[in-house]
Amino acid sequence: MRFAALTDSGRARPNNQDAYGHRGQLYLVADGMGGHRAGEVASQLAVERILAAAAGADPLAELRQGMSDAHQAIIAQAARDKDCEGMGTTVAALVLAEGRAYIAHIGDSRVYRSRGPAALTLLTRDHSLVEEMVRQGSLSPEEARNHPQRSVLTRALGTGEGLRAEYAEADLEKGDIFLLCTDGLTAEVGDEEIAGILAMPLTPEDKAARLVNLANEQGGSDNITVIVVENDA
Ligand code: CA
Repeated sequence: MRFAALTDSGRARPNNQDAYGHRGQLYLVADGMGGHRAGEVASQLAVERILAAAAGADPLAELRQGMSDAHQAIIAQAARDKDCEGMGTTVAALVLAEGRAYIAHIGDSRVYRSRGPAALTLLTRDHSLVEEMVRQGSLSPEEARNHPQRSVLTRALGTGEGLRAEYAEADLEKGDIFLLCTDGLTAEVGDEEIAGILAMPLTPEDKAARLVNLANEQGGSDNITVIVVENDA
């Protein structure tokens, strides 16, 4: 497995509330929200707890455990520290193991798969207000990308009554390329552009750099985090 991870604060934000991590065949990104530096606390807690739960035996059960641990840890920290009140985070996590891809996600961070020439599949569905409006037919995907309320989430880790993450698994083929990203990428860079870059004959490092550079060139309005994973085994 070859992979590269890159995070960038973008051109508009003074700090970076995104976090990412990797352990064995587990890769994840998180996009924190909250005042002061609370967003950074939330996304970092999520990465730490989800990595800690990954023992490499039962990917889906470990992802569920990690998401639950992270959810509780964020709620507990928010209760202890007034500056952290109301904080939360998205998560997009991917485990590649024994010919399968396992995914956990909450919020609007995404997992894409590129297979063959420019065939891009989105493996997650945003938990966001605009995504619900697209599904109901009241907004086009293009309108959603530029919508002023595009960052309003309907689900996040550490907020709400219960944990409402989604889990999925998919088959895995040699040559599959996965992209995990926060919305700072997808707010600026369209799916066709993402597909084109992932299909280029470049290293994961160069693909990650191109994606982040393009997001900055096209606005850089938010923190940008990407992980590119190539299943070359
Ligand atoms: Ca964001």
